[in-house]
Amino acid sequence: MSIANANDFLSRNFKKSEFRCGCGRCPEIPPHPDLVNMLQRVRDAIREPIKITSGIRCKDWNRSIGGAENSPHLDGLAVDIFDSGSRFCYYLIKAIQSHDCVKHIIIYPNHIHVSIFGTYRTGERSLWRTK
Ligand SMILES: [Zn+2]
Ligand SMILES: [Zn+2]
Repeated sequence: MSIANANDFLSRNFKKSEFRCGCGRCPEIPPHPDLVNMLQRVRDAIREPIKITSGIRCKDWNRSIGGAENSPHLDGLAVDIFDSGSRFCYYLIKAIQSHDCVKHIIIYPNHIHVSIFGTYRTGERSLWRTK
């Protein structure tokens, strides 16, 4: 492993590049450290890889993929995780829910959206399912 690759890791299993905006053009903003730490602890608990399908989004990219206007993805406070099956989903959600920093978990048909409170701990924690 080269030094450049080693520096790309934000935690044991998560690389900075996994959170990068899908547009591939905007200046990089880092994911919130609480989000990375929570994901790493969940990864350690479930002992299975977690595939991030959407991490940071700039406004343009968020609009182009139909994200909510004030999406927490814009501020590095949310990730979408590929749902690789009901067993995975069950353990993942159980593990995610045990972390106080988590604000919303939304189960979509093909991915699970997880957002954290960040600096300002306002609003309720919730778990939703959508079609
Ligand atoms: Zn972008
Ligand atoms: Zn999302």
